[in-house]
Amino acid sequence: MYLKCTGCSEYFSFPEHFLYYELNNTCRMPGGDMSVLDRIPLAEFDAYFAGLDILHTAVAIEYCWCFECNRPSYAEYLPDLRQFDIAAGLRKCRDSETSKGIEDNLLVLSDTEFQRLYNLRLHRRTACKCLTCGTGNYVRLDANIRLEHEKCWGSPIEFIGIIRSGSAAPIVKVSYDSEGRLARANMEFRIKDWRSNQAFIDVYGTAVNQDVLRNAAYALLRGQGPVALNCIKELLDKSHAQVLGMAGVIHATGYNMDIDGSLVLAYLKQAISLSDGIAAYNLGNFLRTGLPGMAANDKSSTYYLHLAKEMGVDFSQHR
Ligand SMILES: [Zn+2]
Ligand SMILES: [Zn+2]
Repeated sequence: MYLKCTGCSEYFSFPEHFLYYELNNTCRMPGGDMSVLDRIPLAEFDAYFAGLDILHTAVAIEYCWCFECNRPSYAEYLPDLRQFDIAAGLRKCRDSETSKGIEDNLLVLSDTEFQRLYNLRLHRRTACKCLTCGTGNYVRLDANIRLEHEKCWGSPIEFIGIIRSGSAAPIVKVSYDSEGRLARANMEFRIKDWRSNQAFIDVYGTAVNQDVLRNAAYALLRGQGPVALNCIKELLDKSHAQVLGMAGVIHATGYNMDIDGSLVLAYLKQAISLSDGIAAYNLGNFLRTGLPGMAANDKSSTYYLHLAKEMGVDFSQHR
């Protein structure tokens, strides 16, 4: 689905992200570490999934217009407990007359996911948030909402139907903590000629400067590299490992700016010298493909991925 201004024909598309909650702590990669699947014999798949809960709970979402992002976004869908109770009742008689014609996100979830979201709601202290900036300053989109395009003197913005097509958008997986704040992200980015790589961001496991790093990560989710840089600007020369690591990621992903491999290398090496294992993991990954300004180097790549493991960053191990 997307929105279109009736005045200037500008399109506003929704982000295409995969969104999860960090509820089970079995893995540090949003959405789970899919690479483990490559190493499991096909015959052992079922037993593996039954014994290990590697997939995170997906965030139930609703379409919204966010006034902070100033564009369409997704917000969490976590209605109050009464609605969960009603949904629980309807789920029991799913195929009967009573539940016919009732559509709700809570009715299509698996039992495990429903249970987990219920528990999340039960302990939740803060309101639902926009999933690309973290504010509550949004309005849920439905047919009655009137939106205006500020830039062209308040021309109405209209809904255009849902398009379900394969998309070439980079794959971005994001996870959120139990209060709905961004926790971790695994972001694909295009280098050139269809080559891509990915960068990992961990705000959840970071003790200092969490808000600054989170805001920078939100900006990257919106594809705004320069805004992300601006978030960390004041901390950049203070030798904080994770801030330097974030600077490396911002210059690597090159969202709405140029990729600068030499800066990436400089920032990540500094971060690594200050014991940021995630920086070592990212550098190891980047060296596999190389970046503009940073040549690919298999030997160095292996070295840094190995170093990352020694520093405790190992996505092949479940906690
Ligand atoms: Zn317009
Ligand atoms: Zn927003």
